[in-house]
Amino acid sequence: MVTAIYPGSFDPVTYGHLDILKRASALFDKVIIAVGTNLRKHAMFSLQTRLDMLKEVTGGTENIDPYPNVEIKTFPGLLVDFAWEQKAGAIIRGLRALSDFEAEFQMALFNRHMEPGISTVFLMPHARYTYVSSSAIREIAQYSGLCGSKEKDLSEFVPPIVAERLKEYFKR
Ligand code: ADP
Repeated sequence: MVTAIYPGSFDPVTYGHLDILKRASALFDKVIIAVGTNLRKHAMFSLQTRLDMLKEVTGGTENIDPYPNVEIKTFPGLLVDFAWEQKAGAIIRGLRALSDFEAEFQMALFNRHMEPGISTVFLMPHARYTYVSSSAIREIAQYSGLCGSKEKDLSEFVPPIVAERLKEYFKR
């Protein structure tokens, strides 16, 4: 039984994240989505809201099948310590472009140095998600509809409940 950890900020979860999750859940017996409480990154959505969105979309919605072997957790400290505690054999990361590589390479090697028994596995999403990032989604949602332009449709990139949450957030 091999468990993999899929860590990230998921601020908010996108179809790019879900693409990687689907591939990981087909490869491993169990995948734990680990939502980081990373001090370096100031998240837009609260931890609870990010968890709620993840729970909803992985539990199955009208256009997304449920993910039966996926759990969602948070971790306060170092990823490798969390992975070790969960008896995980792998850490999953998504690779979109070469620009992701440098930071990912460093992190993977550091993590391997600290826990040699845990391997980082890189997965590539479908080409249609290679340019999707949570930060770009947040920015488009924030400025969409301003200057008299029409609202941008994000339905290709985020599940409906995420699009709704973004709208609500920026209405406030
Ligand atoms: P982090 O702060 O750890 O980068 P993210 O939520 O931005 O958190 O990303 C979590 C993981 O998901 C990372 O490995 C990232 O490369 C991957 N990821 C994010 N968006 C995509 C996407 N569109 N396609 C593939 N992987 C993605």
